[in-house]
Amino acid sequence: MESISEHLTPLDFPYTEIEEAWEHIWAHVKPLPAVEMPFQRTPGLVLAESIRAREPFPPFPASTVDGYALRSAEGDAWRTIVGEQRIGTPAQRPLQPGEAVWVATGAVVPEGADAVVEVEASLREGSRMRPRYVPTPGHNIRPVGFDIRGDEEVLLRGTRIGPAEVGVLATVNALRVRVHPRPRVAVISTGDELVPPGTPLSPGKIRESNRYTLLAAVELYGGEAVDRGSHPDEPSRLRAALIDAVASADMVVTCGGVSMGNRDYLKTLLAELGHIHFGRVRVKPGKPATFATVQGTPVFSLPGNPVSALVGFYLYVLPAMRILGGTPGWEHPWTPVRLAHPIRREPGRVEFQRARLRREGGTWWAETTGEQASSRLLSFVGADALIRLPAEGDIIPQGTEVPAFLLRLIPF
Ligand code: AMP
Ligand code: MG
Repeated sequence: MESISEHLTPLDFPYTEIEEAWEHIWAHVKPLPAVEMPFQRTPGLVLAESIRAREPFPPFPASTVDGYALRSAEGDAWRTIVGEQRIGTPAQRPLQPGEAVWVATGAVVPEGADAVVEVEASLREGSRMRPRYVPTPGHNIRPVGFDIRGDEEVLLRGTRIGPAEVGVLATVNALRVRVHPRPRVAVISTGDELVPPGTPLSPGKIRESNRYTLLAAVELYGGEAVDRGSHPDEPSRLRAALIDAVASADMVVTCGGVSMGNRDYLKTLLAELGHIHFGRVRVKPGKPATFATVQGTPVFSLPGNPVSALVGFYLYVLPAMRILGGTPGWEHPWTPVRLAHPIRREPGRVEFQRARLRREGGTWWAETTGEQASSRLLSFVGADALIRLPAEGDIIPQGTEVPAFLLRLIPF
């Protein structure tokens, strides 16, 4: 069995504070080059260009109600109904004095008319009508360009495309747009003890879960997950897997093999293949989390405990995905919540615990999800938020305000 006699452990790296860790990510991860794609495929992506309208919307003066188009200057006098302006049809002949035309909501208001009176506010006798009130000019008409001016910049570069933005792209006929693509994120796990689901467990082995957790997280947060398999703790196998993964994706996430064990080779391999920016973070869980770049590709090596791996995804991989996807310097949107109960813990590291949130008396209260051991993935199940506890203090009192990262929303 191959081994390398000297290898790097977390002790070879200075402690990095979490804020510094984010600064390293901001400094070394850059947005992916823009690509052009049909606007229908862009939800969740970030615009790499600003979008300007080339025609006004609406393109004609449009009625906002079902009613009669008429001349406001004629007050509430009787008019002759001379026709019907149906929706989706070109304007009828210009309206003459003493005339009214039936118009539908969204239909063209014919030339010569300057107001529309609602059908329910009109009196009708045969082919005559009169309004029940004296209309003012422009009443119930959306003028040309009311919603979007003909040359208006409707969407700015850097905007993340949600449902409204897709609708705006359709409205301004922006068929193809330049966006930052979804980052392709390769996931590798390592551990001699790991057995995938569906295969019998033999003595000393455990079920592997992290690769599936991480692949799911990448997909759910808008990346393209690339499964690069599970590998034994053997340097040559891991080296080859890393080299392949770096070549096949925009970013690589590994789990396992970054700790103090004599078969934890990831740090050593990353130092050999690229450059390590941090190799030990003063947080709990996940102290040995490592960030490197290999030929410009970001590589995050997360510890193997299932909670450490998923917390590491939220702390480091998600920001990096957002930056690759076109938002440089992306930061977590933290929401203040209050602790529903005191938390007793060992001080010294900023700690991220899993919590349920409930609203009471105008305040969001956080209650932790029971045992917070880094092996207990069930602490994530049913959790609404990751809450950030300060490094200081062995008892954090009930009522303390702490930042929460909401897990049930897709953060923009
Ligand atoms: P490591 O970071 O490799 O020292 O692993 C820490 C702990 O996490 C050990 O108990 C491993 O068995 C466990 N572990 C490592 N990788 C995985 C994985 N992919 N799925 C589930 N548990 C894992
Ligand atoms: Mg291991």
